[in-house]
Amino acid sequence: MSVIEAGRDDPQAGGPPADGVQDAGAARLEFQAEVSRLLHLMVHAVYSEKEIFLRELISNASDACDRLRYLALTEPALTSDDATFRVVLSVDKAARTLTLSDNGIGMNRDDMVQNLGTIARSGTSRFVEQLSGDSSRDVSLIGQFGVGFYSVFMVADRVDVTSRKAGEDAAWTWSSDGLGGFTVAPAERATRGTTIVMHLKEGEDEWLEADRLRRIVKTHSDHIALPIVLKDAQGEAVINAASAIWTRSKGEVTAEQHTEFYRHVAHAFDAPWATFHYRTEGRQSYAVLLYVPETRPFDLFDPKRLARVKLYVRRVFITDDCEALLPGYLRFLRGIVDSEDLPLNVSREMLQNNALLARMRQAITKRVLGELEKKAEEDPTGYATFWENFGPVLKEGLYEDAERRDQLLKLARFRTTKSGSDAISLADYVARMKEGQEAIYYITGDDAAAIGRSPQVEGYLARDIEVLLLSDPVDDFWLSSVDAFDGKSFKSVTKGGTDLARFALKDGDAPDQPAVREADLATLIVLLKQELGDAVKDVRSSDRLTGSAVCLVADDLGLDMHLARLLRQHRKEQATTGSLVLELNPRHALIAALAGRATKAGASDALADAAHLLLDQARIVEGEPLADPAAFARRLAAVMTAAIA
Ligand code: ADP
Ligand code: MG
Repeated sequence: MSVIEAGRDDPQAGGPPADGVQDAGAARLEFQAEVSRLLHLMVHAVYSEKEIFLRELISNASDACDRLRYLALTEPALTSDDATFRVVLSVDKAARTLTLSDNGIGMNRDDMVQNLGTIARSGTSRFVEQLSGDSSRDVSLIGQFGVGFYSVFMVADRVDVTSRKAGEDAAWTWSSDGLGGFTVAPAERATRGTTIVMHLKEGEDEWLEADRLRRIVKTHSDHIALPIVLKDAQGEAVINAASAIWTRSKGEVTAEQHTEFYRHVAHAFDAPWATFHYRTEGRQSYAVLLYVPETRPFDLFDPKRLARVKLYVRRVFITDDCEALLPGYLRFLRGIVDSEDLPLNVSREMLQNNALLARMRQAITKRVLGELEKKAEEDPTGYATFWENFGPVLKEGLYEDAERRDQLLKLARFRTTKSGSDAISLADYVARMKEGQEAIYYITGDDAAAIGRSPQVEGYLARDIEVLLLSDPVDDFWLSSVDAFDGKSFKSVTKGGTDLARFALKDGDAPDQPAVREADLATLIVLLKQELGDAVKDVRSSDRLTGSAVCLVADDLGLDMHLARLLRQHRKEQATTGSLVLELNPRHALIAALAGRATKAGASDALADAAHLLLDQARIVEGEPLADPAAFARRLAAVMTAAIA
């Protein structure tokens, strides 16, 4: 992220300005290209909900106060002159300016150049990525993404930000029209904090009306825990509730207020699908206000698996980066936990092994899973969407959290060969099991629809036995550590032998009679084994197949095929089928013909190409690369020539 600096040769960030700068020490800088695009849209936006700029600025002021309050825990001198955090709004009708001032952490010159000249946060950069240049379409995205500080240029054609960082003496003014870059110049400010002066655009006088401002703050920022003071000709008044939203009783907070708080605390733009708001007292006292987002946050699958729930201690923000607060498989949650018992000076390192926190984590996890169970009953449709969004993350808990495994298995939903695009619970699956069926059958792979068409599933379909279609990467991993649900073990249809013979075929399907003599088949199998050698572990006949001639399956004791493939990809190893079993369909015309030929003279030469083609066919169906594509093409050409000639 670079900012092009003009007018100064050697910028000494934070220090006194260099000589020879224009405007008595003001440096002119350009916005990062992405910011320019964003600002172009802001400046020209015809957007009906411009009022959100105020929410964004107040949200920033509140964050700035939270951050300083935290630093002051270890460095009390930072706030010793003024420990009462607040935000002040004031208007000057004559000058047509609206001013917002806070006594938070403030910014030095470096901070300003970085934070108000580039795009730091992912939400905003997503927004910029989505910009199409068609302004009516782009403007509609503002509401979806929010755009933070830069939204101020929807209402102002010049903005002056004067700030002094807590603990530093120098103050700076950042100034911009939102079009031609910005300037940063030394300034005066008696105390720490940030003041934003908005010179309103022509026609934007509504932001000078006290009533209008009061209503906006009430609508969008009532949840802010700091007093928001409005100063006008009538005097000063606090215009928000100014108490932390989670300290209010459940019935006092409206759905709209929850949405606004969720957006603030999560830096999100959707609404919560579920809200868990409660307080416990007793051995430990804490308040919990957690939200399940409606849509997937952008960083959900980030390998760092960062937790996003904010930890507060007695209303003081401590950290939003506490891994010990909730298990990784609940990382989609947003919101806060506020403890009455943890020490205020708790460091992030101490949190890793804190017994109080460990107990909170236990209790909150249990409660959240319980609430999700309730939601699944009350709102199955909403729950289906929730599962679609966050199921792959929750499933991580199946192997990480043995203690909650049964509860998680109950929450899990799966697509099956019978469920279409819906997903069903394991309880539903068990209720639909066939007479005599003992296992829960599944297949794993990359794509649910594709694995549903796998040859290995054919025999189950033909017998009307339901098979779970598992296509999340995490599925292979939890299956290797979860034995059973409700006493029924999980069994892969791509591994080991089958017990399908016990089940009758559905009416109208192929008769259960091999089209081939046992002895011929046995001879064919011997020939195929000879020809394929180490390329496969075994060759055998199977009742797994109906339409296909062959398929590959894992050996009973080996790794299941999809898991083996994932591990191979991870280790960048070559594909081999040496540990797999090639299964033949004795009812298939091709296998019957080959078996017929196998007992005649010269069979081993005549069937050599066929052996390799069968194996290659099975590989192709698995999506595995061929060991020798050129040989495959040569053999296929030879067989086709013989067939046509
Ligand atoms: P976000 O709040 O999501 O980070 P914004 O565009 O709203 O994005 O703000 C950009 C950054 O500018 C903030 O992250 C913060 O570092 C800085 N900032 C904005 N307003 C203030 C303020 N009042 N006090 C201190 N820093 C601020
Ligand atoms: Mg912000």
